[in-house]
Amino acid sequence: MQIPIRKLSGSKRIALVAHDNKKTELIEWAVYNKSALRKHRLYGTGTTGSLVENALGQSVSKFLSGPLGGDQQIGARIAEGKIDVLIFFWDPMEAQPHDPDIKALLRLAVTWNIPFACDRATADFLLTSPLMFTDYEVMVPDYSQYTRRLDKPGQSNLSPNQ
Ligand code: PGA
Repeated sequence: MQIPIRKLSGSKRIALVAHDNKKTELIEWAVYNKSALRKHRLYGTGTTGSLVENALGQSVSKFLSGPLGGDQQIGARIAEGKIDVLIFFWDPMEAQPHDPDIKALLRLAVTWNIPFACDRATADFLLTSPLMFTDYEVMVPDYSQYTRRLDKPGQSNLSPNQ
C-alpha cells in the first residue's frame, strides 16, 4: 500500500493562534524563540498574528480573527497542505464562542498528521526539534478507502476531492 507523502522544506509554514488569556504567554514564547522563528514563515489568526508581528518585527500572514473564521481558514490550509505546523495556545479555563471551530482545527491537524503544540512546553519541544529545520516527509494517512467508499463495481472512482 502506497502511503501519500507531503514534503516539508527546512523552512516551515507555522500557524500561530492564542486565545485571549493565552496571548501574553504566546508572545513571550515567540520573543524567546525569535531567532528560531525567523527561519520560518509565520501565519496567524488576526489578533494573534498582529501581536506576534509587532513583538517580533517579522511579517506574519494574517487570517481573520479566530471567532470570525480565522481558525477555519487555518484548518482549510492544513487540509490543502499549505500550513506545516500549528502552535495553538487554547484556553482550557474559559468557554469560547467558536468552540466548534477550535475542535475542527484540532481535528484537521490530526487528520493530516501535522506537528502541533497546544501548550508552551510542547511548543518548546517542537521548535527545538532538528526536524523543524530540515526537509521532512509527512506520512499522510491513506484515505483512499474512504474517498472510494461509495464506488460501485464497474463505476469509475470518485476523485479524492469528492
Ligand atoms: P485571534 O483569534 O488571534 O483573532 O484573537 C484567536 C482565536 O480565538 O482563535
